[in-house]
Amino acid sequence: MADSSNDQTLLIMGASGDLTARLLLPGLGALLATGSVQRLHLIGSAVDDWDDDRWRARIAESFAQADASGQETDAAIKGARYLRSDVTDQDDLRALLDACRGQVILYFALPPTVTEKVIHVLTDIGVPAGTRLVTEKPFGSDAASAAALNDLLTQLVPEDHVHRIDHFVAMPSVLSILGVRFANRMVEPLLNSQHVESVDVIFDESLALEGRAGYYDGAGAMVDMIQSHLLEVMSLFAMEPVPTLAAEDVRDAKAQILRATRIWHDDPATYSRRARYTAGEVDGRMVPSYVDEEGIDGSRDTETFAELVLAVDTWRWAGVPFRLRSGKALGSPRTEVTVTFKPPQRVPTGMTGDGSTGYGKPDRLHIGIALDTNLLGLDLNITGKGDPSHIDPVSLVGDFGAGRLPPYGEVLRGVLQGDPPLSVRGDMAVQCWRIIEPVQKAWRENRVPLREYEAGGTGPGGWPHTGLPA
Ligand code: NDP
Repeated sequence: MADSSNDQTLLIMGASGDLTARLLLPGLGALLATGSVQRLHLIGSAVDDWDDDRWRARIAESFAQADASGQETDAAIKGARYLRSDVTDQDDLRALLDACRGQVILYFALPPTVTEKVIHVLTDIGVPAGTRLVTEKPFGSDAASAAALNDLLTQLVPEDHVHRIDHFVAMPSVLSILGVRFANRMVEPLLNSQHVESVDVIFDESLALEGRAGYYDGAGAMVDMIQSHLLEVMSLFAMEPVPTLAAEDVRDAKAQILRATRIWHDDPATYSRRARYTAGEVDGRMVPSYVDEEGIDGSRDTETFAELVLAVDTWRWAGVPFRLRSGKALGSPRTEVTVTFKPPQRVPTGMTGDGSTGYGKPDRLHIGIALDTNLLGLDLNITGKGDPSHIDPVSLVGDFGAGRLPPYGEVLRGVLQGDPPLSVRGDMAVQCWRIIEPVQKAWRENRVPLREYEAGGTGPGGWPHTGLPA
């Protein structure tokens, strides 16, 4: 019998779904094409009446989409198997586990309610030793349910065998936050409340619903983006310097920030905003009102734009507002962490500037958080552009290119190698819910109006109460 001790089986539950086709398989293809993963068996499963050929065609299509080819991709396609099953059924699930060779990696590419059911069934039937579990967002539906899910998962496998995916954390641009902060003497010493006025973590996109009504209408921008992704990005930006990039160091430092985070002045009604788009033109195409999109229940008051201001109660960040925002169907996409610095102590008498600051524009550091670019920008003030005593704002911008792998390729590399820093630890998932819960409550109680903005526009306008810029 062949030795399978170095084999791994990636069992994708939800093989016929959108995530698998659009993100997971292209990421896997890109990873396999690097030649760094061998002896991987791919099993797909779903309720659909597919067969091996149909599944192999799906894989081949997704690999081609990622321009991924080579010996390992061909071998993965050729050896792939499809097993039709209802994964909430004990016998079906047991048959799937029996079909795996070597170490088992169970990827829950399923609707969240189905994932929860499967985890319950697994606690009854058990999993082979060494199994890794990979869950997708959203993880739970509030702090209590996320904590309960953690308890179940850690009954099955140790915490470091659970990979709660946040593909944002694997985006090269987000990972570059580490380099910008810790590999530059001139950056890190300035990142604290003595020098920083405010921090923005913004993900404004031009994309509208793009056919994802079923999922999005139950989630909205707050859960889809802020709870799931932007809080993770914020914690990476705000964490204390880490001695190593080992999982425990990075995760401990991020968790400390999340535990210290709360709504600004504990006032969610004043320091949060929500809105949804009405019909308009985005990038030359007409977008219908959110409530008129197919599959949307307008009475749910789902927001497509969410914004909140947070305080991070640590020595370093006390008094610095962190604004997190994400909106859909916006005319001016902007995806970045922006650090706004305080004004200089004073400018020399005789030096003149424009604008309300009296000197120039605030210094700003921009760290892009986009999928396919790696932008870094710096806004500074100079003199000497003409009048030697006049202050002129200038911007330096560079695009340092995409990473070696797409985010899902990077995520899967971490999963297959058992390297968890790119996934979310259980306590962090709970904290991300805990932070947004007061806002969700204020929204449910209608203490924050649901405003409207035109698709293709700039969003619902400035903050009426806080004095923060739009
Ligand atoms: P889809 O609805 O497109 O796919 C769900 C998959 O689950 C289908 O293959 C479906 O099979 C399968 N399934 C459902 N019930 C069962 C069952 N009882 N037994 C076996 N298979 C079952 O969902 P998505 O792919 O969009 O999302 C999956 C997960 O990924 C969700 O948690 C989502 O939040 C997350 N996610 C999705 C993203 C995306 O862009 N799509 C992005 C980031 C995260 P069948 O069709 O045969 O019923």
